[in-house]
Amino acid sequence: SSALPTQSASATELAGLDRKFLVHPHQRMDRNDRVVIVRGDGALVWDAAGNELIDATGGGNWLSQVGHGRRELADAAAEQIATLEYYTGFFDYSNDKAIELAYRLNQLSPEGIDRVFLTSGGSDSVESAIKSARLYHNRRGEPDRTWILARHFGYHGASYGSGTATGFEMMQTYVGPNLPNVEKLSPVWPYHHEMYGGGDVTDALIAELEATIERIGAGNIAAMIGEPVMAGGGVHEPPADYWPRVREVLSRNGILLIADEVVTGFGRTGSWFDSAPRGMQPDMITIAKGLTSGYIPMGGLLMSDAIAEVVTSNEGFFHGYTYAGHPVAAAVALANLEIIEKENLVSRALTVGEWFKSSLAPAIDLPQVGDVRVVGATVGIELVVSKETKQPMGIPIVAEGVADAVRREHNVIVRPYGNVIVMSPPLVIGEDQVRRTAEATIEVLSRLG
Ligand code: PLP
Repeated sequence: SSALPTQSASATELAGLDRKFLVHPHQRMDRNDRVVIVRGDGALVWDAAGNELIDATGGGNWLSQVGHGRRELADAAAEQIATLEYYTGFFDYSNDKAIELAYRLNQLSPEGIDRVFLTSGGSDSVESAIKSARLYHNRRGEPDRTWILARHFGYHGASYGSGTATGFEMMQTYVGPNLPNVEKLSPVWPYHHEMYGGGDVTDALIAELEATIERIGAGNIAAMIGEPVMAGGGVHEPPADYWPRVREVLSRNGILLIADEVVTGFGRTGSWFDSAPRGMQPDMITIAKGLTSGYIPMGGLLMSDAIAEVVTSNEGFFHGYTYAGHPVAAAVALANLEIIEKENLVSRALTVGEWFKSSLAPAIDLPQVGDVRVVGATVGIELVVSKETKQPMGIPIVAEGVADAVRREHNVIVRPYGNVIVMSPPLVIGEDQVRRTAEATIEVLSRLG
């Protein structure tokens, strides 16, 4: 057979082959000139044209906790493939690596979260959480509890359940009917506190939650899902009393709380699980991304013993994926967690955040920068038309143009999310790389007029 055209292709030819043969997640016709990444090392990646780029995004997708190109993870995968590449967790079987990972996650997870159902990614985990919440209530004699409460601008995935819980309407447009019985609450955006009527932000959100429960009927609601810190919705930290008060209302009404920690888990915001310090006390936690630093697809649904007992009772848990508990993914996850622990990357995320805070300090003086939010090793820079009105730069083209210029002119990758520029680098990123990222972004932002 003839050699693949990709083996000798130039960067431009590769981008052309990409356009011809690949369909991408969230692909858009007006953004179809891709940078093809071919190699990575630490917080650096290289494109097919040979450019060395600082990856301030964590693989473009909030992950890469341990950095790119870690030999230990390649070795863990290779060794497991040579030992046992796969055996099902269905029927009467399990595998040793999945058990080891479940044990490890039990040790790391917040108190009361004891068991894990392993999946292949975030959407699968959220899908499993929604099903488990409904199944839990059904088995306990409350089959009417089917409604799921979620939030506008929350991101939970792209399958039908997770995609309907996601608060970006374009994910639900033209592909209906979507999952029924999903209700959206307001996002928690303290920077935009005016939109809650001028009073206390948490008071307003709790009033909305109580009114929503009243309207739908507590006896019809299965669960609420939320990211401890909204990531894709713009990197917004909730007020300290938000989650404890939400938890109290939900508990009083028999509603489960699902913490979507796909982004916040495994060090990203400076803790193993962000739901714990925020007082969420969730019944279930969804994980993915940082679980393997993206070296291999894997996610999970963590739950209490009580929920696990109920969903697996009677005729059983009729739900599961071929790759649940995949031993190679589990081996990579274990090696990844070991690196995060040994290299103190969870606390390093806070140090990275401090570097960002100091190097991004001048950004807030720029006329088009409304807010600079740093949560652990995650940053959101919100672009506004004016600081007074806080009116968002409505067209994402502005933020996209900023990210394009930061890459083309400074060899740094940041990511646009609507009117927010996001950074979420590998936790191993160096101080100098953080400073260069901040300086590049400020330089480009300073040209916005
Ligand atoms: N939940 C959150 C908070 C996410 O940010 C994402 C993806 O970005 C998902 C779930 C979906 O995960 P996946 O893309 O692995 O299906």
